[in-house]
Amino acid sequence: MAANVFMFLLNALINLFWSKQYKLKSLKISSLDIKTSLITLGVNVIVAIPGYYLFLGGKITFNQQGFLVDLVLLIFLFDVVMYILHYAFHIIWPFKKIHQHHHTHTYFNEFSLYVMNPLEALFFGLLLTLIAFVFNLNIYSFLLFIFFNWLYGVVAHLNTKSEKTPLFFGNSSFHKKHHALSNCNYGFYTVVWDKLFRTTS
Ligand SMILES: [Zn+2]
Ligand SMILES: [Zn+2]
Repeated sequence: MAANVFMFLLNALINLFWSKQYKLKSLKISSLDIKTSLITLGVNVIVAIPGYYLFLGGKITFNQQGFLVDLVLLIFLFDVVMYILHYAFHIIWPFKKIHQHHHTHTYFNEFSLYVMNPLEALFFGLLLTLIAFVFNLNIYSFLLFIFFNWLYGVVAHLNTKSEKTPLFFGNSSFHKKHHALSNCNYGFYTVVWDKLFRTTS
């Protein structure tokens, strides 16, 4: 819970500092932004509870071997799964309806990363629990991956004046175009799948 609150506040601070430092125009914060992002924070805390009890009951187990292999596996697996799911969230009802809330931000403010339908936050939280349940992962790989995933989310939701399409890794300009156009750049960590399936902007 403390880590979730800390990451929530740190995201807002990074975004604020970034926009001030590079004199970037931020989206005006609405009361709905504050409300929905606090709900997302609450969902992120609550969704971790079943995972915690599965861990205590020995249903989710971790090990301490193969740190690098597990970390790379997690990043690769999530990169491809997130591309497919994100694409599905743009074309299949009712996921499309759910995901539309995140797209009310065509550019960003301090809360954009957390502005989403609570069901979307719940879905991705449970996906993380499912991965931990299915695979017997290195505990440090899993924890570092959760931090990496959050950090990538923070970076992806920073405003930028850059229009450049990245060569391999996704970045702020890549995800900004996704929010602005809504029909391209579905990838997150890498742009590989967008290039392969010709969904880049
Ligand atoms: Zn989207
Ligand atoms: Zn986004």
